[in-house]
Amino acid sequence: MNGACRIAMVLGLLTVSAAQAQTTNLYHTNRVFSPIVLTNYPNISAYRLVNMASQLTEVVGTTNIFINTNATKAVEYEGFAWGYESANAAWTSVVAVYQSYSRNHTNKIYDNAGWVRGTKEAYGSWGAYLWYLQNQISFTTSVTNVWISPHGVTNRILQVLVGSLGDYPPQTNVLDIGPTNWALITNYLGSGIATDVVYKANLDTYYELLIPDLIVMPPTNSLLMTNVFMAMSYPTRFPPTNYLFEVRRAASTNWYTITNGPSSAVTTVVAVAGTFNVRVTAWLTNAVAISTEREFVAQFPSYQEIIANTAVIQRTSQAWSNTLAATTSTGRREEGFWIQVNTQSQRYEFAATDIGPTVGPYTNASVRPRSKPSDSHLTPSPIDRPTYTIAYFHTHTPTTYRPHGRAVGPSRADSLFHNNYDVVGVVQDYSAISGGNIPSNHPIGSASQLYHSGPNRRTLPP
Ligand SMILES: [Zn+2]
Repeated sequence: MNGACRIAMVLGLLTVSAAQAQTTNLYHTNRVFSPIVLTNYPNISAYRLVNMASQLTEVVGTTNIFINTNATKAVEYEGFAWGYESANAAWTSVVAVYQSYSRNHTNKIYDNAGWVRGTKEAYGSWGAYLWYLQNQISFTTSVTNVWISPHGVTNRILQVLVGSLGDYPPQTNVLDIGPTNWALITNYLGSGIATDVVYKANLDTYYELLIPDLIVMPPTNSLLMTNVFMAMSYPTRFPPTNYLFEVRRAASTNWYTITNGPSSAVTTVVAVAGTFNVRVTAWLTNAVAISTEREFVAQFPSYQEIIANTAVIQRTSQAWSNTLAATTSTGRREEGFWIQVNTQSQRYEFAATDIGPTVGPYTNASVRPRSKPSDSHLTPSPIDRPTYTIAYFHTHTPTTYRPHGRAVGPSRADSLFHNNYDVVGVVQDYSAISGGNIPSNHPIGSASQLYHSGPNRRTLPP
């Protein structure tokens, strides 16, 4: 069938006094699809984007239905009545008989379906007429339940929106009859009144797709921080019943399950460092679809994050107190320890304390760190809960009993060590009095602080 055809109205003996309708109506609905255009989207806020995404119709098209020409036809009905005492009686007679007088137009769909009807007085009696042209369209909604975008992305078809006819599941056979505005067609219109109405079916077809999406908040985070993976799915009026959240290393194709269940959001504590891809698969009763992959970067904790941890604060201030308590007029020593994050217990942990050699007032103090503790996992999977060594802390010593002052903060050797071992350096020392120095005989209880040395955070693994 090549488009819709038109048919000339066959009115027989009757003429229509009413003016021809100027517009063609659509049956059964009068809906219009209009596209939403997103412009300038790289610069908009996340809130605005989510807000706009919620307005998306997830509708693609225009496409077409697949008409079964053998079972498609237009049916033309005609009814006449004359010689009645009243218009109402003539009309009642027409409504009773019109379906008995019909003609089939096989394999036709007409754009001027509808009706012409009325009552008319002639020679002292009443007549009535009804002409009604009806389309019977047999079609299959789609040949497949998957839509493939011009870029090769596949999506499940949730519904096939057939122009003015209605919404149907994909791959469904439908026989649609219209127009069927029965009250308008058969109700009594009045004495001496005629009307005609033209209807057509709009067969512009669109596919409504199931589109799951994923929001990673925040997209870059540090170990032991809380992260949220939130599934979004469109159209929102069809909420999925199950969500599978998965993660893979960016450099690997092996997916690991984060959660699989009815919850659309997952809150996790970041446990494995690296660059990952995350996706969500959403299920509806008749469809399943996988979201676009979103990147997630899990960093080691930064210097600021490490020194904000309460266990680190407690442990380093204890080490400083120990260092001061070990100081006498003849001797003093540094102490230090490796700092780890245990993502299983979600706590900071500390290796055993290294105590430096006790030295006299004329000798510089130092501490020799024990071997760096290995990470618990050499190549953790994205869902392991490793323990990582991320920092080394040590103290510097008072000048209270020394004959000369010194510079405060990390030494050149400290910085080399931390960089060499790829760990954050944390050094506790006195606050400077002038020019980055403290003098000889600086009171032992003077203000102290933490200093940063080496990298801001351990290097991100691949
Ligand atoms: Zn040092």
